[in-house]
Amino acid sequence: MTDMESSPSFAHYKRFKEILVADPGFLPDLRQDPKGTLAAHFLSVPVALFAPHLSLPVRSWPFADIDRRVMGTDWRHEIPGVDESAIINPRFKAWFRRQQERIRGQFVKPHADLLNQVLFAFELSVGCSGGCDFCTFSAPSLEEVFRYTEKNQHLWRGILIAAREVIGPAAGFCTGYWATDPFDNPDYEKFCRDAHACFGRFPKTTTIKGQVSPPRSLEFQKMVSEKQGIPTFFGFSVTSLDMLDRIHSRFSPEELEFIGLALNNPEASTRYSNTGRIRELTGEKPGEEKIYLEGTSACLTGFLLNLPRRTIRLISPCPPSEAWPFGYLVFDSVRFSDPPDFARRLEWLIAEHMTVDRPSEQILRIRSDLELTLLEDGFELKTPHLKHTFTGDPLLRELGRSLATGSHRIADLEEKFILYTASPDFISDTVRRLFEAGLLVEPGNGATSNDD
Ligand code: SF4
Repeated sequence: MTDMESSPSFAHYKRFKEILVADPGFLPDLRQDPKGTLAAHFLSVPVALFAPHLSLPVRSWPFADIDRRVMGTDWRHEIPGVDESAIINPRFKAWFRRQQERIRGQFVKPHADLLNQVLFAFELSVGCSGGCDFCTFSAPSLEEVFRYTEKNQHLWRGILIAAREVIGPAAGFCTGYWATDPFDNPDYEKFCRDAHACFGRFPKTTTIKGQVSPPRSLEFQKMVSEKQGIPTFFGFSVTSLDMLDRIHSRFSPEELEFIGLALNNPEASTRYSNTGRIRELTGEKPGEEKIYLEGTSACLTGFLLNLPRRTIRLISPCPPSEAWPFGYLVFDSVRFSDPPDFARRLEWLIAEHMTVDRPSEQILRIRSDLELTLLEDGFELKTPHLKHTFTGDPLLRELGRSLATGSHRIADLEEKFILYTASPDFISDTVRRLFEAGLLVEPGNGATSNDD
């Protein structure tokens, strides 16, 4: 059989790609001696699969095409976003949609598509043992772990039930970590089983400790795959080439087939978001092409909980900045004491920050990151990635001007324009369209900071 006739197993192709992306020495070796290099790494991949791309730098390889040739599908498309139809709370659903509209304008398309993954993130410890110098969320050292005691089990189950009752089954789109490592918690699997019992889904899980105990990792993977049938919810974060070697020596390609590796080692051709600890590095900061200046790792629009501290933060992704160094907005932050109090706080956050329709009592203002251009018969709002045009009536030009000044409530605008429009609904309908497109400032937006 020739190279062209054979087709690689996905497991071997995946390992090939991991080494290619993580290790800058692999491509020159492949160029020099493809078969010998594959053999040295025990890889069963046909040379014909990658030979046409050998002259390209790794970042320019057409991975989507090669993935499709190997798998018959695009790997990235298998990452599911939040199922909005499973959100039962109308205020939260409308708010979530507006945030997604904003995100689409603030991030380049493929990146924006990956930022709607979860509605809840549950931190089951305080701090993290990882100590990564690129840490997106500047996790402090591990201080405390939320063990699965009888009391904590009661709190945890109560929170899951309340989340489901308030938000709907979509609350199961969650992670079991944030600025924490899930496997720092020896009871992590028990918390996950409860989440699965409540939602029929496991929290998404990525750990830096996947290679520490292969039996633990493989058991976890088996549990997720067997119960859920979707094996892409578990991943290892890789922070050095040594760690990648250890992972590849401790797990077979088949064992890692559905365990995603996040290649975060400094040599990898992947990039770091310009958030968290990367912003603080001086001198040794990686080159600009290694840093994704407008990127964020925050894929949560919803509620970030810390269980030991009993805190809830309402957050959503945004481009990193001095004001938002972790790449997410914090709309509010509250504490809770027990499951009924958690349900009350959730309801309060929703009532305080989310409306279905444009707020009647709030001053209406165009988001400050939008560039306003007044046209003869309307106005345009632009971000680096999207343009919204409102034209067809000279009144729209004046409405755009008024919304930019941020000094009118809806009733003020209706009164201001009533003499000039035959349709009494013209102003309120236009404001509604702007609000639903996420172009107006949300109630509470910017009230706190990433430090709260
Ligand atoms: S990147 Fe992840 S594993 Fe590393 S310190 Fe931050 S939270 Fe911990």
